Amino acid sequence: MLTPEILAEAWTTTLRAKGRRVTKQRLAVLNAVQNHPHATAEEIVQGVRQEIPTITVQSVYVVLADLVEIGMLQRFEPPGTPALYETRTGDNHHHAFCIRCGKVEDVDCAVGAAPCLTPSDYHGMALISADVLYQGICVRCQTDSEAEIAEQQQRQAQQLHHS
Ligand SMILES: [Zn+2]
Ligand SMILES: [Zn+2]
Ligand SMILES: [Zn+2]
Repeated sequence: MLTPEILAEAWTTTLRAKGRRVTKQRLAVLNAVQNHPHATAEEIVQGVRQEIPTITVQSVYVVLADLVEIGMLQRFEPPGTPALYETRTGDNHHHAFCIRCGKVEDVDCAVGAAPCLTPSDYHGMALISADVLYQGICVRCQTDSEAEIAEQQQRQAQQLHHS
C-alpha cells in the first residue's frame, strides 16, 4: 500500500537524486497531483493551497514545470483542454479521452514499451516514442448506437487477445 509517508519518502529520495532541494512546495505539488491524477494546473493550485494557503499561482507553475523537466510528473494535453498532470510516469501508458465531457482514463500500453507503434517509414530515425491518444465517447456520454459500437469494439478486442 502506498501510504502518504511512503510516497513522501520516495519523492524525497528522487528529488535528491535529481539534485533538487526537498521543499514543502515541491512535496505539496506532488501530493496534490497524486491525489488528483490528470489534474489541470488550476486544480493543482487549489489542492496545494489546502496545505500552503499562501502559495502563489506562479510558484505552483514554476514547480510543475520543473517536476516535469526532471521526469517526476508527466504533462499531456488532450485537444481543446488545458495541460493535465499526473505522477504516473515512465510506464508508457496512454490515455482515453472523451470528446464530449473531457473525462480522461489511463490505458496500459498493450505493447509495454515505447515506441509501441511501428511506423510505415522510419526515415532513419532512432525512435523514442509514439504519442497515442484514444479519443471517443465515454460510457456516460454514449447514445444507444454509440454504446452498440463500443460493445462491438470490446468484443473484437477480447477475441484478438484470446486467439
Ligand atoms: Zn464523456
Ligand atoms: Zn495517465
Ligand atoms: Zn502503447
